Amino acid sequence: MSRNSAPLPLGSTIGILGGGQLGRMLALAAARLGMKTHIYCPDPLSPAFDVTPNKTVAAYEDEAALAAFAAAVDVITYEFENVPARTAAFLAGLKPLRPDARALAVAQDRLAEKAFLTVNRIAVAPFAAIPDLAALHAALDEIGVPAVLKTTRLGYDGKGQRLIRTAAEAADAYAALAPKPLVLEAFVPFEKEISVVVARNGSGETAAFDPAENVHREHILKTSTVPAAIGAKTARQAREVAEAIVGALDYAGVLGVEFFVLADGALLVNEIAPRVHNSGHWTEAVCVTDQFEQHVRAVLGWPLGDPTRLADVVMENQIGDEIEALPRTLGAGERPHAYGKAEVRPGRKMGHINRVRIRTPLP
Ligand code: AMP
Repeated sequence: MSRNSAPLPLGSTIGILGGGQLGRMLALAAARLGMKTHIYCPDPLSPAFDVTPNKTVAAYEDEAALAAFAAAVDVITYEFENVPARTAAFLAGLKPLRPDARALAVAQDRLAEKAFLTVNRIAVAPFAAIPDLAALHAALDEIGVPAVLKTTRLGYDGKGQRLIRTAAEAADAYAALAPKPLVLEAFVPFEKEISVVVARNGSGETAAFDPAENVHREHILKTSTVPAAIGAKTARQAREVAEAIVGALDYAGVLGVEFFVLADGALLVNEIAPRVHNSGHWTEAVCVTDQFEQHVRAVLGWPLGDPTRLADVVMENQIGDEIEALPRTLGAGERPHAYGKAEVRPGRKMGHINRVRIRTPLP
């Protein structure tokens, strides 16, 4: 990144891989800074297409389409971490890719991620690579039960994982997930789950938002509450860990770090996401600079904004048909964001509401 950190000028075009709600919110933030966006997504009904002047509908493996896309933009970013490695390498050879291919490689693979965190002395739950059933039995002897067996790649919202409560459940859990590469993790008896969204730009400036306390429903994020009900020391450590991660990656952009908080306030990193993050949507309503503008600033090589939080807030995801009540029930203190998705489906993130509570006195 440092090689390419001259700030891009007004009127530049940011290429975004992925056309979901995160791409949509990035495009809105980019427009406010006088940028054009070009969104690349295989799904012709992508919600981000509504808010961008330029789009490409093509597969992520279509090199002719990728080359034309790269030629039309000044910098490339993405809204999801499962950009294929070949796609990332191909595009990075044509235009700056921010965050870079290494950040993607680390975040795409739970084993690479845990190895990276461990090398950087950042605590994670005990874990072991599981190439076969014998390795699973050996790892269960070592790590104990309960434990969680996960696919190393392409898991999200609780998909691709099985809880193993007793050694007798090992074979079934293995059969359900193999032959994909697997990792076993100790089950963490956490008190809370929190996350920190952090930004870094090519000059090495970093800025972390306050930790959010996250509650999931049916494995999908339901609410993020800020401030999180954690001690000041835990909050400070979470931000420091997040800043250490983006430093170690020589990162450009916004990154989400999910943590487990133990009873004594100790932190374990669960996973990292090299992109704007659902648990950072609250920043839109109550921060001087929100995560979307922060990401745009970082990928443009601009100075970062101020992440200071000006009010307390609860962000609630609107999942499936919950969104349909919005026109009747929206309260005066509620900041809605509807993603404009064409089809309501159970379990689909359709929007979110930020409920803002003014802090008195203001800090
Ligand atoms: P993940 O896809 O790894 O983020 O996991 C989804 C959710 O499953 C987490 O937010 C936790 O609530 C739970 N979970 C995942 N791994 C563990 C673990 N090792 N111990 C306890 N709970 C876990």
